[in-house]
Amino acid sequence: MSKFWSPLVNDLVPYVPGEQPKMANLVKLNTNENPFGPSPKVIEAIQAELNDGLRLYPDPEGESLRETIAAYHKITPEQIFLGNGSDEVLAHIFFGLFQHGEPILFPDITYSFYPVYCGLYNIESKKVPLTESFEINPEDFKQPNGGVIFPNPNAPTGRYLELQYVEEILAANPNRVVVVDEAYIDFGGESAITLVDKYPNLLVSQTLSKARSLAGLRVGFAVGHPDLIEALNRVKNSFNSYPLDRLALAGAKAAYEDEAWFRKCCDGVISERERVTAVLEGLGFEVLPSKANFIFARHKEQPGEVLAKGLREQGIIVRHFNKPRISEFLRITIGTVEQNDALIARLESL
Ligand SMILES: *Cc1c(COP(=O)(O)O)cnc(C)c1O
Repeated sequence: MSKFWSPLVNDLVPYVPGEQPKMANLVKLNTNENPFGPSPKVIEAIQAELNDGLRLYPDPEGESLRETIAAYHKITPEQIFLGNGSDEVLAHIFFGLFQHGEPILFPDITYSFYPVYCGLYNIESKKVPLTESFEINPEDFKQPNGGVIFPNPNAPTGRYLELQYVEEILAANPNRVVVVDEAYIDFGGESAITLVDKYPNLLVSQTLSKARSLAGLRVGFAVGHPDLIEALNRVKNSFNSYPLDRLALAGAKAAYEDEAWFRKCCDGVISERERVTAVLEGLGFEVLPSKANFIFARHKEQPGEVLAKGLREQGIIVRHFNKPRISEFLRITIGTVEQNDALIARLESL
């Protein structure tokens, strides 16, 4: 605390990102990055932007990228809002669409940035418990609220909610915005983007950080009715007109133009996820069914904290949350075959 701080800063409880250790040779399975690099076409596109043009501001609307994403998802550019990573998009959503004087709803076990945005903008929230099997029950989201948000697949559980149940939540909340955070949707789920023309209260957020291997480029977006998009543009243009730089705009566009690379990376992650799941089950783990690029698993005898520590001693980093209901679990990002083999070997010896 300092006398120079605005009083609100005192009360902020910031998000704690998974660590980015400086050590080399780590098997880094803690922040759900893609083990495969970005498409070579992304690198080329970024390199082509490294020229005198950098003295100019980028396109504040990111029109060319929005056109590319719109064509890809068979929607219109007016239904897309771009941001500096989906975290920034989510922040603008909380500010622009969730301040109605009623608590917003999200699962008790979910992305831990949501309560942080609530703290930043002074938004009340109500945690909706997941079921015993860590699933979202749509019935629980049929209560008065100021908005609804959940990841699908959920994080850190990896559990996926079928679209028909997402629709149930949308239909039950016609006067509130329902945000589906699809950071992990490309690893086996079906996107709710196909529902935006049917539900004007639906906002879908996606990121290029996970399935498109571009966590370092910081590009995310939201898809929804143009009225919702306009709210986000108003907030954005009151905050930072140029959230995406020239390199990010070019790289992101190229990522959408290399479907073959994208498919190959997703398929690689999915097949490894199924293999690692089966092996861990053989070692006495309960592994929640995952449609993400990570698994959430607990061992029948060994505490999560002990396992995380034992892995770390061998240079393998996974995520352990010291939180109610999930302190026995490890969240393990699916890596390359070699990384996963190292993980398995170490877990066997533990
Ligand atoms: C990774 C993640 C994000 C943020 O992604 P960025 O685009 O890198 O900011 C958002 N939501 C969930 C659930 C995530 O896991």
